[in-house]
Order: sequence, then C-alpha cells, then structure tokens
Amino acid sequence: MRPLFTPWRMAYLKSHGARDCVFCTALGAADPREALVIHTGNENFILLNRFPYTNGHLMIAPKAHAAALNGLTPSARREIMDLILRAQDVLAALYAPGGFNIGMNLGACAGAGVADHLHVHVVPRWEGDTNFMSVTADTRMIPEDLDMTWRRIREAFGGKP
Ligand SMILES: [Zn+2]
Repeated sequence: MRPLFTPWRMAYLKSHGARDCVFCTALGAADPREALVIHTGNENFILLNRFPYTNGHLMIAPKAHAAALNGLTPSARREIMDLILRAQDVLAALYAPGGFNIGMNLGACAGAGVADHLHVHVVPRWEGDTNFMSVTADTRMIPEDLDMTWRRIREAFGGKP
C-alpha cells in the first residue's frame, strides 16, 4: 500500500479539528472540575466520561490530537499503559469493582463517539450492573452523581478538588 501524504490536513486538524474536539477542549479548560479532568500526566490526561456507562467510567486521552496509536510518541504510548494501571488501582480502592472493561474504539465504524482523538475507556464493572434498563430502554442507572465521583477520584489521584 502506498501512503498518501496530505500535509495540508495537518493545518486543518490543528485548527479546526482540535478546536471542535471535546478532548482538546477539556484539556484546555480553565476549570478541571467543569471539564471533569481528573489528572494530567506528561503526555496524556484522564477525565471522567460525561455520559458514563457505570460509576467511575474514566477515559485516558493523549494531549496530542491524534486519531491513531501510531500518531503518538513511544513515551506517550507507555504513559497510557501506566495511567491505565493507576486508574484501575484508584477505582479498585474507591469502588471495589468485580472487574473492568478497558479498551479503545478506533474509528467511527468501530464505535468511537469521537473518532479523531483516540481515548482509552476504563470502565469498572460489577456483577449485575447491566440491568434491564440498559437492555430495554438504553438507559443506565448511575447511583453516584458526576461531581461527587470527580471529587473522589481526583483526590485519590492526588489532585485538588
Ligand atoms: Zn482533540
């Protein structure tokens, strides 16, 4: 396969793409609480999903507006793995889940809601958390409100609430 180089896309992505991106917007927000940002690392950051699947549904995203893993530096990719482990430890300590879903949807056809800025979902799971509401009504029962979740997890990551 021959690569098709499209350097003009970079300027477009850097202006338009990043400006309209929920992840870039959250990273640049003045108020981490408003943006639900939990922790900022060297090359990645962690935020709460505004539309969580379960309580404590975190997302880890690179600071770079990148759609694919090969668009990241090796150190950024390594940091993502480190942050996945930290997120798991924090969620395990706070919420004692029975398991986790950890993964990425790369590309719109693969289910990515935001396809042009990759992100890893870390979703704590409990036995019985998929109740009839999710199945029948596409509605999820989230027992703890986002603000409380944000404060608890942010504190556990050593951040100021
Ligand atoms: Zn972005």
